[in-house]
Amino acid sequence: MKIIHTDVLIVGGGLAGLRVATGVKERGHDAIVLSLVPPKRSHSAAAQGGMQASLANGKMGEGDNEDVHFSDTIKGSDWGADQVVARMFTHCAPKAIRELAHWGVPWTRVQRGDHTAIINAEKVIINEKDEAHGLITARDFGGTKKWRTCYTSDGTGHSMLFAMDNKAKKEKVEVHERLEAMAIIHEKGRCEGVVARNLMNGELVAYIAKATTIATGGYGRIYSVSTNAIICQGTAHAMALETGVATLGNMEAIQFHPTAIVPVGILTTEGCRGDGGLLLDKDGYRFMPDYEPDKKELASRDVVSRRMTEHMRKGKGVKSRYGDHLWLDITILGRAHIEKNLREVKEICENFLGIDPAVDWIPVRPTQHYSMGGIRTKYTGESQTMKGLYSAGEAACWDMHGFNRLGGNSVSETVVAGMLVAEYISDFLDSSDSDMEIHTSKIEYFVKKEQDKLDALLCKENGEDAYVLRRRMEEIMMEKVGIFRNGDDLKDAVDELEELLKRSSNIEVFRSKSRAANPALVNAYRTQKMIKVALTAALGACLRTESRGAHSREDFPKRDDENWLKRTITSWPDENQTLPTVNYEEINIATMELPPGFRGYGKDLTSHHPQTASRVAKVDKITQELEEKGSDRFEIQNELMPFIDKLPEKYRGINERFGENV
Ligand SMILES: Cc1cc2nc3c(=O)[nH]c(=O)nc-3n(C[C@H](O)[C@H](O)[C@H](O)COP(=O)(O)OP(=O)(O)OC[C@H]3O[C@@H](n4cnc5c(N)ncnc54)[C@H](O)[C@@H]3O)c2cc1C
Repeated sequence: MKIIHTDVLIVGGGLAGLRVATGVKERGHDAIVLSLVPPKRSHSAAAQGGMQASLANGKMGEGDNEDVHFSDTIKGSDWGADQVVARMFTHCAPKAIRELAHWGVPWTRVQRGDHTAIINAEKVIINEKDEAHGLITARDFGGTKKWRTCYTSDGTGHSMLFAMDNKAKKEKVEVHERLEAMAIIHEKGRCEGVVARNLMNGELVAYIAKATTIATGGYGRIYSVSTNAIICQGTAHAMALETGVATLGNMEAIQFHPTAIVPVGILTTEGCRGDGGLLLDKDGYRFMPDYEPDKKELASRDVVSRRMTEHMRKGKGVKSRYGDHLWLDITILGRAHIEKNLREVKEICENFLGIDPAVDWIPVRPTQHYSMGGIRTKYTGESQTMKGLYSAGEAACWDMHGFNRLGGNSVSETVVAGMLVAEYISDFLDSSDSDMEIHTSKIEYFVKKEQDKLDALLCKENGEDAYVLRRRMEEIMMEKVGIFRNGDDLKDAVDELEELLKRSSNIEVFRSKSRAANPALVNAYRTQKMIKVALTAALGACLRTESRGAHSREDFPKRDDENWLKRTITSWPDENQTLPTVNYEEINIATMELPPGFRGYGKDLTSHHPQTASRVAKVDKITQELEEKGSDRFEIQNELMPFIDKLPEKYRGINERFGENV
């Protein structure tokens, strides 16, 4: 039995995982990263449009700061987010982006003088200040009051991940590629590492660590069409569930992105609409202003996806052999702009559609894109229920996105969470609290358990075909747990998925019985795990009888703060259960800096919480009194909802920006 010891084990070599790894290394702790693929091939490389950070360097970002970013994020989340976490995030995003610039990310910069931009289908001249020349610039994105999304053309994730990986190499972070975490080793609520499988030779390896971080990204591939890479399967979420101790948060909160190309579902970034692209129907008519006169194409993603679906349901979609779609028109931006700022989009259109987006409209429709749910953690990134288990990035629910993430807030979250969680882990490791003792027999027990499961799959005869079960799971999720949801479909989805889960215990590995590199074996055990994840999402959605952010119930169209201002917490305490256990965690209004209100889209259908009015009154009173006393925005914020003392000391400083004396 191969056993490898380290201080910190990080499962996942995307932006979040690598940022955690470099952070703990800088604090003098050993770190090993496990990844299914070489880190530079992690899904983070696919991020196109940009990273939100309230730098306010450009003309259209003037007036931006942490407060505006915070307010956009909370409204975007439909008040589902943890406001302290959102504050920590917005405070640290400017620091994280400058750090990345220092590590080599070639952020697109402000150019002094006049520039032509397309805003609301019209050409506008924007004049950039001399003093801002050479500073990091930003583009417009959905659901934001200011232009805040910093970018490197439309290859932002690619350049961030390459810089991050180079930094990790410089810090001598050890990366074990093609190693798949299969099970968490734990005892008495303490995480002690994982059992991993070498995808090339099939060997099981035990990694023992004082702290283990899950940074495995989202679980989009439980849907049949997704913008996610094929490795975004959520198997590590299932691994957490299978401990019976760790919990998942808000798994039903799943985002659909408005503009994935048809039929394959590859994304064209929100930057297309941020830069001025328009959504058109079968008649070439620009329909979004009719639905959302204020934000139009740049309403929050969940809103735009719903409006597009609504419009197609009215018969306004373009018929195609792959189903209805709408058009994204970026011809209006001109070839020069597309070739400079949207060149990945151009390549995607050329290679996958055979069209030139400088001339042709792009066929698009909303497609599964992002997982707001994940491993439930405290603000430190540590699981609420399992000591020594941490999570960061899209895999986590720490929870700054609530029920809808703003575009550009995810890559930003990966690096901010990564840098903060690395500090909290290091503090944990520096204290005697992290001491642990583990016996070899315990490790053997967990390794043997995984080996037995693999053997059972390989020895099975006359069993189920994992590909069939998985295909059905994907279809159920797409058809019944999609953009619009309703009780009947959700109930069917849960019943059918439960049945698939039962059948999955009888999977046979057809074709090859090899224990080494064997895609059929991999698909078999991953399918078992994915169905569990799908069940947490479907059951959470079925029980949540309200509409909030991306969770939209046609039978319960109101956002019901009175009954549903709470997080869904799922667990799987007994491995013989065929459904997850669902609990709820209240979101406390009394401590909110921004009490629940109207998000600003469509009609206000909120059913208010009894405490909302009193919290609004209290916030207004405190703000007014402090303003009269001449307090600045930081003092007022601190009085409303203190968060600074939760941050590691080195990240507490005020961010510099134009027009603000610090
Ligand atoms: C097409 C696309 C475009 C996007 N554009 C933007 C954008 O412009 N701005 C923005 O903010 N967000 C964007 N996002 C979202 C953003 O890219 C992701 O949320 C983010 O990059 C996730 O990073 P991560 O580090 O959490 O996970 P990932 O980058 O997904 O990395 C996960 C890692 O975990 C590893 N892994 C998974 N399972 C296991 C296992 N069991 N064992 C071992 N290793 C494992 C993988 O190998 C990988 O290294 C986009 C998403 C998509 C799909």
